Amino acid sequence: MDMNSHSLIAAIKELVGDANVMDAPSDMEPYLIDWRKRHSGKAACVVFPRTTEQVSKVLAFCNENAVKVFPQGGNTSVCGGSVPDHDGQSVLLNMRKMNRIIELNPRNNSMAVEAGCVLADIQAAALEVDRLFPLTLGAEGSCQIGGNIATNAGGTNVLRFGNTRDLILGIEVVLADGRIWNGLRSLRKNNSGYDLKNLFVGSEGTLGVVTAATLKLFPRPHAIATAMLGVETVSAAVDEGLKLQAAFPGELVGLELISQSEFDISLRHAENARNPFQTTPNWTILVELAAATGTSESLAGRLSEALNDSFNHGVVQDAVIALNEQQRADLWSIRHHVTEANGREGMGLTHDIAVPTYRIPDFVELAGRALAEHYPAAVPVVVGHMGDGNLHYIAMFSHAYWASVEDKAGVQLKLSHLLYDIAAGMGGTFSAEHGIGSLHVSEMSVYKDAAEIALMREFKQLLDPKDTMNPGRVLPKVAAAVSGH
Ligand SMILES: Cc1cc2nc3c(=O)[nH]c(=O)nc-3n(C[C@H](O)[C@H](O)[C@H](O)COP(=O)(O)OP(=O)(O)OC[C@H]3O[C@@H](n4cnc5c(N)ncnc54)[C@H](O)[C@@H]3O)c2cc1C
Repeated sequence: MDMNSHSLIAAIKELVGDANVMDAPSDMEPYLIDWRKRHSGKAACVVFPRTTEQVSKVLAFCNENAVKVFPQGGNTSVCGGSVPDHDGQSVLLNMRKMNRIIELNPRNNSMAVEAGCVLADIQAAALEVDRLFPLTLGAEGSCQIGGNIATNAGGTNVLRFGNTRDLILGIEVVLADGRIWNGLRSLRKNNSGYDLKNLFVGSEGTLGVVTAATLKLFPRPHAIATAMLGVETVSAAVDEGLKLQAAFPGELVGLELISQSEFDISLRHAENARNPFQTTPNWTILVELAAATGTSESLAGRLSEALNDSFNHGVVQDAVIALNEQQRADLWSIRHHVTEANGREGMGLTHDIAVPTYRIPDFVELAGRALAEHYPAAVPVVVGHMGDGNLHYIAMFSHAYWASVEDKAGVQLKLSHLLYDIAAGMGGTFSAEHGIGSLHVSEMSVYKDAAEIALMREFKQLLDPKDTMNPGRVLPKVAAAVSGH
């Protein structure tokens, strides 16, 4: 059945109520462009379901009528995953009205939430009962847990607590045809068949809509020590990171790397940012330790002691340890403001690569050489989750230079493949934590194994044979996959 926008909107209003459907172009505008204002799309309407049953009704209707559905969380995707395509006939399904905490159970160290809960609100709710929900990322004030699950988000605590995948005990999903799978368990062990939960985590809304999840909580840390260390080379940073991992097993939660170029950009553009160093080091390591017991002072003291040796040998050239919560926030603020600051600085082409951690220095060296040779106008800017081998390697062009580039898409594609080839040569990936979205679909056929893509396609065919769920995301078109290598 072919459906025009008018009858589609009328039918959806009938299903979920007028108040939960937006169709005026000016109202819809903010939902049709992503947070960084790099990707935009069109939709017949934006739907804000309030219950799992409403999601089910909308999906069943759309499936029946071959209407495309684009799920949206906090719209913070950095790879064009959160906005619809351009044909304007689709439904954008925004989850923000499903933001209830269903059950907070400190005695089970678990919390069941609806998918539209904002990550920062979940963190705060856990703290109120003296627990920690450890997923932490720069977008936490806007991104939703459903989006985090759909992208298997990483962030700055992965070293200690794992990716989102590791923090989920159960999920509830509405399938493309409207069927509801309630897998909202709160068990830590359950070997009763295939692990369907993990099929949906990281599937970026292409297999169904996550409507709720049960999250793992941890004891709230009562001691936290945060420091910034200045080192001369990336090699020294990686070695120092390994020493810290050995010295603080179970306590080292974050190990971030920031290049001098990135540090200075953040200082230039982030509000109230102050340089904790006299001079910005070549490379900065941001370290965070957390312990359930003891005091922050004693933990900071142990950190300082552990750094002595590296300091005396000139490996760590400068160090700042936060002495209070404000100083800690100031250090993190430099790290958390990089995305915003980069946007103000120029046109940064970001590459979310991962390599085995010991290859980080080689990657930075080879990528820097490749940029200097082929794109001398680009400044290499590096920030990343060093402990996970995950770097956001950014080729930064001035706004003026970028405006003068005629074939922007061509430059972007060639430049990224230059860097992705280097990562692939080290057994690395072109997408560590941000996902594929619409931006990296073409890379899937270049860098993923053809058999792996074929298998993914079979899952998609099984769960969404009409391809109504987030079409054009994650999986390349069939012809591209066949010719991929
Ligand atoms: C400043 C900044 C810092 C960031 N830092 C990190 C970081 O450190 N680590 C990291 O991994 N990412 C990071 N990101 C990327 C982004 O925040 C994450 O990918 C986040 O998980 C997306 O959540 P969201 O709710 O905004 O989802 P959206 O951006 O709205 O959507 C992302 C994808 O998930 C799908 N989706 C959303 N909700 C659902 C649902 N309920 N069911 C099914 N599919 C759904 C969408 O269709 C889309 O494909 C950062 C982004 C910004 C802007």
